[in-house]
Amino acid sequence: SVKDMGRNGFNFYDEQMNLDVQRSFALNVRLHQAVQQGELEIYYQPILDLVSRKIVAAEALMRWTDSELGFVSPEDFIPLAEKNGLIHRLGDIVLLEACTQAAAWQQISPIKIAINFSSVQFRYCEALQERIVDVLVQTGLPASQLEMEVTESLLIEQDNALMKMLAYLKQLGVGLSIDDFGTGYSALSYLQKFSFTKLKIDRAFINNMTVCSSDASLVSAILAMAKSLKLKVVAEGIENDEQALFLQQHNCEFGQGYLFSRPVPAAEFTQLLIRDQNEASFTEQIERAG
Ligand code: C2E
Ligand code: MG
Ligand code: MG
Ligand code: MG
Repeated sequence: SVKDMGRNGFNFYDEQMNLDVQRSFALNVRLHQAVQQGELEIYYQPILDLVSRKIVAAEALMRWTDSELGFVSPEDFIPLAEKNGLIHRLGDIVLLEACTQAAAWQQISPIKIAINFSSVQFRYCEALQERIVDVLVQTGLPASQLEMEVTESLLIEQDNALMKMLAYLKQLGVGLSIDDFGTGYSALSYLQKFSFTKLKIDRAFINNMTVCSSDASLVSAILAMAKSLKLKVVAEGIENDEQALFLQQHNCEFGQGYLFSRPVPAAEFTQLLIRDQNEASFTEQIERAG
């Protein structure tokens, strides 16, 4: 009967809810431990110039493999860290480690480092600003080599302190990218209010672009708009040559995705960078010889 179905349904959801609560409790405990014991790692994914195919930047992406829970995606633990306040410590770890690494990479190639910032971190924007400046001074990384990636959720609250901080960092030369563009609030007016330097098209659009004509028009519309606003564009999630070619033909400057490389540990990224430099100097040698 309907009544039985209701009861069974209730039991099922009840049990499912219980498991969810248990899992998020376990995640919470383990994440605190992981932070304390320094178990979080940072991987780096190259961002390439789509014409020269040279690495121009690295995006720092956090990785966590727990001894009991196994691999936990940042899509799961970042929102949790935003709720329990750990995001401030996580953010600090990524900022210091990635800037230290990027400062060392400057010896090989003048690449930029792109770091993701959660909107929650901007709740204490004076402290955050101070920390960013400290880290730049401490690591010796030029401000022009740091790019902050933020999502549209930051832009809902456009308070004065936030605007002041962003203006200050911009004047130092720090870049500001809008991440996951196209998935958020689509209030285009904010693009001018905030002085972004880059726009990253969400990989959902890149995914379907070469098979779905409406996504293709969307991508070319975003590219045209970005051009008129003098914003550089990074396409996220490029997985095949067809996508890379389409983007190149539509004058998208930069790309990132499994076609070029997955996110890799720092040592592996160093190898990618060295190989990239050698290949470049080889081409330059040929050009000079010719
Ligand atoms: P995001 O900033 O948009 O990062 C790009 C995501 O796309 C990464 O997922 C990357 O591994 C993935 N990706 C890159 N190329 C491809 C591709 O060709 N195909 C596919 N399927 N995926 C690709 P990841 O590393 O799982 O990170 C997910 C999100 O977690 C990030 O999205 C970012 O919002 C957040 N996140 C990661 N690390 C940090 C961090 O240190 N701080 C903060 N606040 N957020 C972080
Ligand atoms: Mg990002
Ligand atoms: Mg993104
Ligand atoms: Mg994302």
